[in-house]
Amino acid sequence: MTTTSMTSTPLPDTPAAPAAPAPRSSSPLDTAHSQLDSAVAVLGYDAGQRQMLATPRREIHVAVPLRRDDGETVLFHGFRVQHNITRGPGKGGLRYAPGVDIDEVRALAMWMTWKCAIVDLPYGGAKGGVAIDPRDYSTAELERVTRRYTSEIMPMIGPDTDIMAPDMGTDEHTMAWVMDTYSVNRGYTIPAVVTGKPLALGGSRGRGTATSAGIVHVTAAALGESGVPLTDVTVAVQGFGKVGSHAAAIFAARGATVVAVSDQYGGVRNDAGLAMDRLFSHVATTGSVVGFDGGDPLSNEELLGLDVDVLVPAAVEGVLDGVTAATVRARWVVEGANGPTTTDGDSVLAANGVTVVPDVLANAGGVVVSYFEWVQANQTYWWSEEEIADRLEHRMTSAYGDVSALAKREGLSLRDAALVIGVQRTAEAHRIRGLYP
Ligand code: NAD
Repeated sequence: MTTTSMTSTPLPDTPAAPAAPAPRSSSPLDTAHSQLDSAVAVLGYDAGQRQMLATPRREIHVAVPLRRDDGETVLFHGFRVQHNITRGPGKGGLRYAPGVDIDEVRALAMWMTWKCAIVDLPYGGAKGGVAIDPRDYSTAELERVTRRYTSEIMPMIGPDTDIMAPDMGTDEHTMAWVMDTYSVNRGYTIPAVVTGKPLALGGSRGRGTATSAGIVHVTAAALGESGVPLTDVTVAVQGFGKVGSHAAAIFAARGATVVAVSDQYGGVRNDAGLAMDRLFSHVATTGSVVGFDGGDPLSNEELLGLDVDVLVPAAVEGVLDGVTAATVRARWVVEGANGPTTTDGDSVLAANGVTVVPDVLANAGGVVVSYFEWVQANQTYWWSEEEIADRLEHRMTSAYGDVSALAKREGLSLRDAALVIGVQRTAEAHRIRGLYP
């Protein structure tokens, strides 16, 4: 039994839950490479340029031994990849999940590079991960894992070199441990080495809900192009963690009808709209949306195929592949997760007339407010919640506008257009800086 404070808590009272669907078909790195290739083809870059854009600048693989609470020792594998640091320091989350491997971290780091460039932040892209299921470990054990991992990768990270943030399986508490370990070893407090920190340590107002708020901003912008208001749409959200839960709540608060949500244990559906307050209380008590009495049970696969207007995959990679994408009846897929749609899935959705608002644009709100947090830490001056919310909305809607305009002008999908912008800005920074020596 764990006492972890992570979002993915165990299920103390939930009856035998169905196993989570395993992500299928191509790997995240295959998907990331194929997306890069599409952008490179549009931009007409040569093989050498493509190779430079595809290859991580630096990566580290570390052993993370843990002394468990019962005295036993276990070992985990940890990674940090800086995909590109040409436009600024590496920026990217830290993921704790059992299946994490170097290729997954490479893909996530590459997506961070394009994402930061699309929303025009002065960052490159990075990502970290430890192959651990946080639900199986106590808070004290997770603290030791985090501190050991941080010490091992310390030469690579720093407020001007590579800045971490929470991702799947980690949270603001994890960031506090990273920040403390880094600061203690440097001899003074360095808040800007991480973002997504608790407010008490210099975290930013609005960071906790920023990714989700950004998802709703770009959804509103995409719907607006078809003259559809948020208040007229039904929404289904897969994943009820940091991203999915707040996205569902913000959609509902802005007048959309959230008819289904799910997590790794299963989902719940109510065509009249799920009562968010009661759903959040249920999740706080049981650790899952499963068993919520304000709706009927449904599986993750059923959720993907619901007859809704907007589908938001906000859990893991690869859930919309060539097979599951064919079941999608939504008119818009807004990617809250990183890499939820495979290359085959993308082709199927395009053929079926589904508009996909891609991850590198749709979920960029988190890194936008992480950037605001980093700026505030560097200035030691704090902004109000309204300032954060306004600046976030402006960044997200203007990035959507750039991507949509390019897509229309060049006849591209939103994904290809977003990638073209991200890849081109990165390549342009390479060109201007020149190749050393
Ligand atoms: P989280 O750990 O807080 O939540 C993950 C959620 O997904 C949980 O509800 C979990 O039960 C569910 N889940 C896990 N496996 C599943 C499966 N196989 N099927 C259905 N549901 C499953 O993670 P998060 O921070 O919300 O991240 C979710 C996604 O969003 C990830 O792809 C992450 O990289 C991406 N993302 C996160 C942020 C951020 O600010 N946290 C920013 C950008 C992108």
